[in-house]
Amino acid sequence: MKRLVLLGGGHSHVEVIRRLGMNPPRDTRIVLVSPGRHTPYSGMLPGFAAGHYGFHDCHIDLEPLCRLGRVEFRTTEAQGIDPIARRVLCSDGGAAIDYDVLSINVGATPGAEAIPGTPEHALPVKPVSEFVRAWDRIQSAATRTYLNNRRVMRCGPNAMNARSGALSEGDEDKKPDQPQLG
Ligand SMILES: Cc1cc2nc3c(=O)[nH]c(=O)nc-3n(C[C@H](O)[C@H](O)[C@H](O)COP(=O)(O)OP(=O)(O)OC[C@H]3O[C@@H](n4cnc5c(N)ncnc54)[C@H](O)[C@@H]3O)c2cc1C
Repeated sequence: MKRLVLLGGGHSHVEVIRRLGMNPPRDTRIVLVSPGRHTPYSGMLPGFAAGHYGFHDCHIDLEPLCRLGRVEFRTTEAQGIDPIARRVLCSDGGAAIDYDVLSINVGATPGAEAIPGTPEHALPVKPVSEFVRAWDRIQSAATRTYLNNRRVMRCGPNAMNARSGALSEGDEDKKPDQPQLG
């Protein structure tokens, strides 16, 4: 029996698991390793920030997806890979996961903390799980004026998306004509 390990439960592996579910490979044991059971669908995050969607609307539950794809689900974070022994070492202290084929899809984590002032004054959108947790906190603490004074740093399309989400429909009149890039 071959062992395929999927590292990371992001966008790419979600689609891999969905397709495996439609055409399960024979004689292959498949394991998904992900630190969280719910993976965000990033295209809906601006709507989440705007309050149009709740957490479960814009997150995919990996457990039922794995059941559908006949994939074992292991909730933990990979801490290292031993390519000689062909095994993934996990942060939960549990048994290492042996593989014949390893697919790595752990996404990108920007090193925002290296930018002076970021920890005190900014909220990085990635990792999304931390953004979602912090956003709840900020929303309960923030005033509308505070939100309107936010600046978008390192502005790509995702940052602009997130910013438009942060300004809810009721804030339309407060939107500047041009985005203010900090
Ligand atoms: C606000 C926002 C809006 C966006 N909107 C769009 C859009 O409309 N259209 C579009 O095409 N793209 C959009 N994107 C970009 C899109 O989200 C990314 O391109 C996409 O998520 C990348 O997919 P991925 O599978 O490479 O990684 P990700 O989806 O980032 O997944 C990586 C996964 O790996 C896991 N992981 C990380 N480290 C470990 C570890 N050590 N062990 C195990 N698992 C680990 C993470 O928990 C995560 O689940 C948006 C992004 C953001 C932030």
